[in-house]
Amino acid sequence: MSVWIDADCIHCDLCAPECPNTAIYRAEQQYQVDAELCTECVGFYNKPACIEVCPLDCIEFVSA
Ligand code: SF4
Ligand code: SF4
Repeated sequence: MSVWIDADCIHCDLCAPECPNTAIYRAEQQYQVDAELCTECVGFYNKPACIEVCPLDCIEFVSA
């Protein structure tokens, strides 16, 4: 259960502060999600907070 950030990320830093699990971190090329920490916001919000705030829609669900 996780989301991932694709190459369109522009490092705007809107998503990371919204994550209740501090799962989002800045990597060299783009922001990334630690799949061990991401719960897709279950227990905190009805929708993933990072997806809600990302202006580029570059955060997606990891397909099972
Ligand atoms: S879906 Fe929620 S828990 Fe997962 S990275 Fe985004 S804000 Fe964090
Ligand atoms: S909100 Fe979107 S564009 Fe901004 S840092 Fe996060 S993933 Fe990248």
